Formats: sequence, structure tokens, C-alpha cells
Amino acid sequence: MKTFLKREQVEEKARGTLSKFEDCGGSLAPPIDVDLVGELVYDLQIDWVVINEDSRTILGGLYPRKRRIAMNETHIEKFRQKPGLERFTKGHEIGHWVLHVDEASLDYPVLPGMEIEPDILCRDGESSWRERQAEWFSSALLMPADILIPVCQNSDLLHRPSLYKIAEKFDVTITALSVRLSQLKLNYMDDRGNLYRSREEYAGQKSFI
Ligand SMILES: [Zn+2]
Repeated sequence: MKTFLKREQVEEKARGTLSKFEDCGGSLAPPIDVDLVGELVYDLQIDWVVINEDSRTILGGLYPRKRRIAMNETHIEKFRQKPGLERFTKGHEIGHWVLHVDEASLDYPVLPGMEIEPDILCRDGESSWRERQAEWFSSALLMPADILIPVCQNSDLLHRPSLYKIAEKFDVTITALSVRLSQLKLNYMDDRGNLYRSREEYAGQKSFI
């Protein structure tokens, strides 16, 4: 299992996935068709199943041997209200497939009755390296830097309606967009939702308060 990956390496993997997607005839015009990326590039299908939860929310998981992404049907209403969240979760599971599944090990036969539950379960708020990497991957897949940056250069990133317009274009949640913009150092949003040109500007202003 490849555990130690830097964000740049994850970014590179997502870029590679998109390049293969384009080779398969997929379009890179936003919004990226994440279902089709999974299907065309990795032969991954999507299942809607009820995944039992403990105290933490589980939005999705992955059955590597079945080459299936499991979306938790328990949260179908939440996904309907926030299509960006559904897309991000799918991108996250593709991320696990690309970054954390050793395809060679999948050739071993599975005993009957095995893999009833997904092998990889994604609990909300889990901050392990694997989960962070899958988040980075999804972010880079749905909002590729080379497509997002030119859009941002033509937008006022300190103007909230402009941000909503960009989020709509890429069909992502405003939260996912904010994280991505901050990652790419395009702007920075503080905990209260105030916008700054950069994290440095935020830090500078804070020191005056
Ligand atoms: Zn995960």
C-alpha cells in the first residue's frame, strides 16, 4: 500500500486519470463526468447500498474485488440536495482505487460470502493519511488546476456570488471549492466565511485585530 504520498504526487495521479479519460473519449470540460471517469478509465461501477454506520457518517466505500464503488443509500436525500457532495464522494472512492488498491492482489480468489461489506469504508471526519489523500484526489479530479485557474483569473474571488458561479460550473459544493482555492493559493476563506486574497493577507489582518 502506497501510504506516503505528497499532495503533488496525488495531484499528478489525478492528472494522469484525466489524461486517460480524455484518451478514452471523455470530455474535460467542466463539470467532469465522474461516473464516466470511473467506468471508462478503471471499469468501476457504482452501487447504491445501505451501509451500516457506527457513530460516524459513512458516505461511501469501495469493493475493490468487485470493482464497485458503494454509495450509502442511507444518505440519498443528502446527496440529492447536494449533487456536488455525491460527485465528490465518487471522486474520493476513485481516489482510493487509484492510490490504495493493489490490483495484483485482487487476482486471489475470494471465498464465497466474503466482501459483503466494502473493504474500504469512508467515515466522515476521519483524518487518516489515506482519507486525506482520497480527498485531495477528488478535489484535483473534479477541479483540475489547469482548468480551474484560468476560470478563476477571470473571476473576482473575493465576491461570494462569483464563487457560487464557479462551484456551479464545476458542480462541486462551495466547501469543496473553497478548500481547492485555498490549496491552489488562489484565495482563502476563514472559519467565519470571510474571504481574503491569500492566507498571508488573512494572517496579516488578524494581527491587527
Ligand atoms: Zn475514504
